[in-house]
Amino acid sequence: MCSFSEIRERLESLKKHISITDTEISFLTTPKKVISFEVEYDKDNGKKEVLNAYRVQYNTVLGPAKGGIRFHEDVSEEETTALAFWMTLKCALTGVPFGGGKGGVKVNPKVLSDNETERISRAYIKGLHSEIGPWKDIPAPDVYTTPRIMAWMMDEYEKIIGRHSPGVITGKPLSLGGSKGRDVATAQGGVYVMLGLLKRLGLGKGNVTVAIQGFGNAGMNAARILSEKGVKIIGVSDSKGGVFNKEGLSADELALYKKKHGSFEGYPDGKNITNEELLGVKADVLIPAAMGNAITKQNADKVNAKIILELANGPVSREAEVILERKGITVVPDILANSGGVIVSHYEWVQNNTGLYWEEEEVMRKLERQITKALDETYIVMKEKKVDMRTAAYLVAIEKILAAARLRGII
Ligand code: NAD
Repeated sequence: MCSFSEIRERLESLKKHISITDTEISFLTTPKKVISFEVEYDKDNGKKEVLNAYRVQYNTVLGPAKGGIRFHEDVSEEETTALAFWMTLKCALTGVPFGGGKGGVKVNPKVLSDNETERISRAYIKGLHSEIGPWKDIPAPDVYTTPRIMAWMMDEYEKIIGRHSPGVITGKPLSLGGSKGRDVATAQGGVYVMLGLLKRLGLGKGNVTVAIQGFGNAGMNAARILSEKGVKIIGVSDSKGGVFNKEGLSADELALYKKKHGSFEGYPDGKNITNEELLGVKADVLIPAAMGNAITKQNADKVNAKIILELANGPVSREAEVILERKGITVVPDILANSGGVIVSHYEWVQNNTGLYWEEEEVMRKLERQITKALDETYIVMKEKKVDMRTAAYLVAIEKILAAARLRGII
């Protein structure tokens, strides 16, 4: 995971490309509000436990704060703040009228019973309810939080405020106001960006090959959608290892096998490989879709793809990025590549606040248009300023945030 000092360093480096003052850098590197609180809940054994919890409302010049809630042992104030910063950029880049936020509870979600998870989810909202709301701060799922958890959180919020308010949280189950298409939105958005970029680079013709690290919501759905479009998936992996077949793998069969056996070990239609070997697979596109910092200075040299599409948040470290650039590999930054999730979260909020619900086809049509516009804006800046794609995406996003801040008279 990228540290906050890396973010500061990256923003400082933008001075080479745009005129940005120290006051503006300081505005961009200062979170608006950091809430650190304790969540107390009853364990199943009758004992009470107190957990550290956070919510960061990073920047709200473009709209209410927006970002997921993570349940993980590594959750910290610094990590939550860095993720909230990226949400701010992601919303600005893609034209989502929200600011950036993020939240989390420091807990090992794997040891919790369903009842304990529910009590933590409700306690988190009890501690935070006065700080959130459809026009203030709108949470969503993130690592190890699910639509089920969003339902508990929304229910707790509505009980406290005494009226319906589905727009307070996104990523809800369909029957409680979730949006059609939200479950596949991150992967689908990434696919629109990938195919759009290949076309612009003149690489879209013939057999495109892809390797994917991580086979959860983002990775598995990307494999499925790409297979349907005739793209050849030649390698995949999850936390336990991977599988390779240069003739192509079936996304549906991989999903069935993983569901039945819990991993890809022994998968009959390919050769088992390690996660490190997956990163070195010769493919047109490598998609890291697991955790942050998957590609570091230790393994970047082995990457053998032309393009890296960051479906995960922060999968390429800053040092790795320098090595990849030297190798001529284009990195499609997370704030663009995985923005389909927040774009459709915004559609969910719009549907909740209007009471009119859309079919999946309409959601996908809108998503394709919106994410392709963000790709175009990034691509133009990349070419004009002769910068890498991440720098271009940052420049597009930051110009929009600073313009709004200036009009508000904040800077
Ligand atoms: P998930 O929990 O559904 O899946 C994660 C997958 O990664 C699992 O298959 C797991 O086995 C695998 N994994 C974990 N550690 C690994 C390792 N060391 N090597 C290889 N694989 C490993 O999570 P998800 O929702 O698919 O999210 C994946 C990434 O995408 C995260 O970084 C998340 O922040 C990012 N993301 C997800 C969404 C979304 O809507 N789901 C939106 C934006 C960003």
